[in-house]
Amino acid sequence: MPPDPPPAALRLEIDGDALAANWRGLDALSGEARAGAAVKANAYGLGARRVVERLANEGCRDFFVAHWGEAGDLLGVVEPASIAVLHGPMTDRDCAYARATGVRPVINSLAQARRWTAAGGGACDLMIDTGMNRLGLAASEIGDEAVGALDIEVLHSHLASADEDVPLNDLQQRRWAQARVHVPHRRAALANSAGIVLGERFHGELTRPGIALYGGVPCVALSGAIRQVARPAAAVIQVREIEAGEGVGYNTVFVAPRAMRIGTIAVGYADGYLRCWSNRGEMRSRDGTVPVIGRVSMDMTIVDLSDAPTVGEGDWLEIAYNLPRAAASSGLSQYELLTLLGSRFAR
Ligand SMILES: *Cc1c(COP(=O)(O)O)cnc(C)c1O
Repeated sequence: MPPDPPPAALRLEIDGDALAANWRGLDALSGEARAGAAVKANAYGLGARRVVERLANEGCRDFFVAHWGEAGDLLGVVEPASIAVLHGPMTDRDCAYARATGVRPVINSLAQARRWTAAGGGACDLMIDTGMNRLGLAASEIGDEAVGALDIEVLHSHLASADEDVPLNDLQQRRWAQARVHVPHRRAALANSAGIVLGERFHGELTRPGIALYGGVPCVALSGAIRQVARPAAAVIQVREIEAGEGVGYNTVFVAPRAMRIGTIAVGYADGYLRCWSNRGEMRSRDGTVPVIGRVSMDMTIVDLSDAPTVGEGDWLEIAYNLPRAAASSGLSQYELLTLLGSRFAR
């Protein structure tokens, strides 16, 4: 047996207390409703197993993933019945898997409803479309007998523009409220993170925050209520002194205006630290903030260490990654910023 490789020179620190505080805050903002958690895409890149374990300890009882394989990764971490698969059963195999494990499918179409019932059925969720036109039954379909045959735990819809003050929010809320009258169900859910602060009418019995759990601030009403959770960090692998006029990195898009001390960091665009951070990103060292200079390359990024004299090879720098600020600076969405972070980060 070869020995285990040594630890990676880049890591994603997850602040579990901030995650827990964000969930408790969103749960409180959900009023009478209970907050669940969207943990699809590996909990937005943070590591679904650890996130789910922590949130379950806080009292979270509903977890949403997109794919069946993502549900499989969570078996043994929480009760299967607390996991729901948003994409629903697209094949008989999906149905058989749901029935064998106890994971709940979210039914999105009449075809999925019939497939689930034909496979033997059981408790499921139902997603209705109220104006986003992405996934879910149309309003005209909810009276169908295939819906009547379902045993619906949660009746869902999803807001297209919860992070904006637009009339579509009210329209979607009214359509969802109408469906609640006509479709038997035990609980109803409409709000994502931003939807929670649209008010009580949007709450139902369950909310489905995602991004705000992980430190994202999708709307001003949530600013101040959310703590940063994910802190990427990478090690300095080399330090050098350069003269004024020397170029740095690919295509030398940075040219030293004076003699400088610079450092090469073990993170690059292959890790999701994209080229938009070239000549723009910042990292935090024990001597203060240091700027990214030159172009981000696949596995490495260069920073100016002139004002960080004690930082040397092997030291770690935290990549500035406050989500609302990083989004404003990079032009990427807060969702992209998190889900981009690659598998080379030790989590
Ligand atoms: C991803 C997702 C959420 C979470 O949305 P955020 O904006 O991240 O809070 C909620 N509901 C559904 C159906 C989703 O797909």
